[in-house]
Amino acid sequence: MKIDVAKTAGFCFGVKRAVDTVYAEAAKGGKVYTYGPIIHNEEVINELGRMGVEIVNDPEEAAAKPPGTIVIRSHGISKQEEEALIATGHRVVDATCPFVKKIHKIVFEESEKGKGIIVTGDREHPEVKAISAWCGHKAHIIADIDEAKDFKGEENKEYVVVSQTTFNTKKFKEIVEILKKNVYYINVMNTICCATEERQKEACEMASSHDAMIVIGSANSSNTRKLFEICRQQCASTYFIQKLIDLDLKQFKSFCCVGITAGASTPNKIIKEVLTVMEENFAQLMEESFKTVHTGQVVEGKVISVKEDEIILNIGYKSDATVSRGEYTNTPNVDLTKCVKVDDVMNVKILKVDDREGTVLASYKRLAAERSSKVLEEAFNNKTVLKAPVSEVLNGGLIVEIDETRIFIPASLVSDTFEKDLTKYKGQEIEFVLTEFNTKRRRIIGDRKQLVSAQKEEKKQAVLSKIKVGDVVEGVVKNVTDFGAFVDIGGVDGLLHISEMSWGRIENPKKIFKSGDNVRAFIKEISGDKIALSMKFADQNPWANADEDFAIGNVITGKVARMTDFGAFVEIVPGVDALLHVSQISKKRIEKPQDVLKVGQEITAQILDFNYDEKKISLSMRALEESDDEAEEAAEEAPAEEAKEE
Ligand code: SF4
Repeated sequence: MKIDVAKTAGFCFGVKRAVDTVYAEAAKGGKVYTYGPIIHNEEVINELGRMGVEIVNDPEEAAAKPPGTIVIRSHGISKQEEEALIATGHRVVDATCPFVKKIHKIVFEESEKGKGIIVTGDREHPEVKAISAWCGHKAHIIADIDEAKDFKGEENKEYVVVSQTTFNTKKFKEIVEILKKNVYYINVMNTICCATEERQKEACEMASSHDAMIVIGSANSSNTRKLFEICRQQCASTYFIQKLIDLDLKQFKSFCCVGITAGASTPNKIIKEVLTVMEENFAQLMEESFKTVHTGQVVEGKVISVKEDEIILNIGYKSDATVSRGEYTNTPNVDLTKCVKVDDVMNVKILKVDDREGTVLASYKRLAAERSSKVLEEAFNNKTVLKAPVSEVLNGGLIVEIDETRIFIPASLVSDTFEKDLTKYKGQEIEFVLTEFNTKRRRIIGDRKQLVSAQKEEKKQAVLSKIKVGDVVEGVVKNVTDFGAFVDIGGVDGLLHISEMSWGRIENPKKIFKSGDNVRAFIKEISGDKIALSMKFADQNPWANADEDFAIGNVITGKVARMTDFGAFVEIVPGVDALLHVSQISKKRIEKPQDVLKVGQEITAQILDFNYDEKKISLSMRALEESDDEAEEAAEEAPAEEAKEE
């Protein structure tokens, strides 16, 4: 790489003179002020500030300051301001550039002669403001072609045209051509400083013969901005930097020759720094410009930009590499700005290099898949348990991904029980082992079922080792059948048979239990891994005091629970039904119990018979009727007997 610095780069004669003046005055040790910033360059201003040089912006501000020396900058000031500064009592050193001074003289003298003054330039620039002040603010300021076209001079008036010293020469000439058509008497004095003109000319030539240009200067400096414009018209790869820190070397890695120029307010020190760094890194830049990459190569890259669907990486090659969303991940519509950030470092595989187009396409996904393929092969051989999130739910199973490698888990291998709807697994992290690994056929099959079964078995054995007959356990109903309910008691299922659900009679377990119900039961029996449960707790046994409670002859009250043709079953205590035979309902003849009784009806009856072994109790309402009759009869007979005795 060839690096050329423009001879005219940096301080012009006038600026150098003004800056040197300030440094010289500061070195003398007295208090030094500059009237406005001495130069459009923050670096220099800050350095002077550290030396104690202060900026004053108007005569009033200057008057309030301790006595010292005020240096007028190269742009110059108006006559009135100069007089006001002298009146403050400070020592005034005029560092106005002699070329600018000359313009002041022209406009002052020519306006005194009654001529009109036209100034081409930026009306906000201090130099232009001062020029205008030197002719009593009567100057016409023309900034561009349009303003020139709009200018209509006074008839029979002679005009003198001068220019801001840093104005673009080409533009000045164009404006003058237009003015000549509109103004009859016109005297053109090209006051554009040759320093500016030469700098612009050299920059223009340099830009047209170099691959890239660096323009150094303050963003506030109009002459530097103009320089940049001129260079960019000739060379698309023109870069504006204010100081060394703005220099991005990798922008220059693909250029063979680079030109450097700088605005009038740019100190030589900064130009030298930029040149030194460029030269010191020359070898590295050269190396990068010669570096090649080829398809299939794995390279390390640093993220320099990331959008929702694209990542740009600096891979140390003359062109940056692009990783599209589809080459970053298999997951559709991922926002890449949420996955990577600028300055992240990542390895990628080169897919395509097009030097003519200056493009490099790379893939992160494929490299990750290759890496994970090795990991998966090892896991397959060693039967390692893997863990990954479910990225997709298909009709026939699940897809999980490890580093962009897709693994299929068939529905039959998802769990130990058949699950019709697998959508609940979406996004869930699940464990599995590989049962098939065939990259050639692109078949990598996972199995979760065997892990689920093993875990359940382990849990089951743990429960079985802890429980014993008689233990009271809490469980959850998993399944209800006609013969009972299966209850999960913490990892193992126990059967609660219909006959063990209650001391009473259960018609159908489904009428009492449903899946998910909580159950408290005790272990009735353990046989291998089969567990029988019971809810017939001894302290709730209605037969415990059966001899007393159900003694023949006892009169009890109960509710009709159900009826058959031969009689009604009456619940006399919870869980104990007694038979009231149709013949025992009444002393009258009754065809069917339903003719005189209703389910739920409360009746009073006498215990006629009780068989503890068979748990059978017979009731009789008729017996009570008959004993009532006997009592009545006895009552009726008693007075007659008494009367007979009397
Ligand atoms: S550019 Fe020309 S006129 Fe302006 S200060 Fe520099 S030398 Fe003087």
